[in-house]
Amino acid sequence: MSDTIEKVKCLIIGSGPAGYTAAIYASRANLEPVLYQGEQPGGQLTTTNDVENFPGYPDGITGPEMMIQLQKQAERFGTDVRYGWITKVDFSGDVHKVWVNDEKEIHASTIIISTGASAKYLGLPSEQKYLRLGGGVSACAVCDGFFYRNQDVVIVGAGDSACEEAHYLSNLCKKVTMLVRRHEFRASKIMESRVRNTENIEILLNTETVEVLGDGQVVTGVRAKNKVSGEVFDIPATGFFVAIGHKPNTDIFKEYLDLDETGYIINAEPGTSKTNIEGVFVSGDAADHVYRQAITAAGTGCMAALDAERYLAAKEADFEVSTSTYN
Ligand code: NDP
Repeated sequence: MSDTIEKVKCLIIGSGPAGYTAAIYASRANLEPVLYQGEQPGGQLTTTNDVENFPGYPDGITGPEMMIQLQKQAERFGTDVRYGWITKVDFSGDVHKVWVNDEKEIHASTIIISTGASAKYLGLPSEQKYLRLGGGVSACAVCDGFFYRNQDVVIVGAGDSACEEAHYLSNLCKKVTMLVRRHEFRASKIMESRVRNTENIEILLNTETVEVLGDGQVVTGVRAKNKVSGEVFDIPATGFFVAIGHKPNTDIFKEYLDLDETGYIINAEPGTSKTNIEGVFVSGDAADHVYRQAITAAGTGCMAALDAERYLAAKEADFEVSTSTYN
């Protein structure tokens, strides 16, 4: 462990749209933010090809390029962007302590958590291969569905997300085949009946994904297996959507912050970015299991920076009042 402790006014953890937007606002408000990028600089958007739904980019932009631009914008106003992984936190006192790579200790007056969430994947080598290639595997129908207009796609999952995404895809694609691993859905009845009543969605129960098929560059289909009959069959498709849940990246905070059963951070005051610990704020997908969009993450990043600024201003005002009382 290092014996020099760094003190910062505002520490931002995470480098997706939420973290960088928080950084832009915090640096323009003279909070001199330090931002740690985490293991995947740029966050989930770096696994997306084209982002066409972020306002202000009429011709679209690639996810990685957008994250480079957001980083530059944050740095332009003085954000200290660093590569590093926060491995431990201690929010038990007035000063919030964090450790970077188990070594460096930082004491922060305010913390903005923008650690995001990670989409779960099946883990099949073929799925990972086409995901890496950007060749037709996606965990976000709203982000990528548009690229499969009038095409046949397959989606795996049977929760509310899978139903919502299947329905979204059904409005764009020619046919959506939904692979459900058990004999029933996990989703709420209303979401299930919506997909059941959509003409171009075919639901295959008791069906698991064996392999994502492709030509070495792009997806051409999905090999599936009926778990009851044992039959293995191929479904032609150009897109394979995985909707089996997300895992918020909040494990290191669970000792101090209120989390829901999946691990999402609970806002202490709805409509703000406040957590149950004073001076610790949350933005982006770490607290959002509903919208999960770059633009909503950016919006809550802005809220977190404004909340942090107001929190520090109120503390300073308190300090001035208490010192003037004693003078
Ligand atoms: P869930 O955990 O609810 O569902 C995950 C689904 O993926 C389950 O059907 C599960 O199958 C399936 N699954 C998991 N692993 C595999 C695998 N290896 N192979 C095949 N299938 C697999 O996640 P969601 O993201 O759907 O929802 C998360 C939370 O967000 C829920 O509380 C949900 O209600 C909420 N939500 C609400 C929405 C709304 O109200 N509009 C929209 C989206 C989400 P199995 O059932 O067999 O375990």
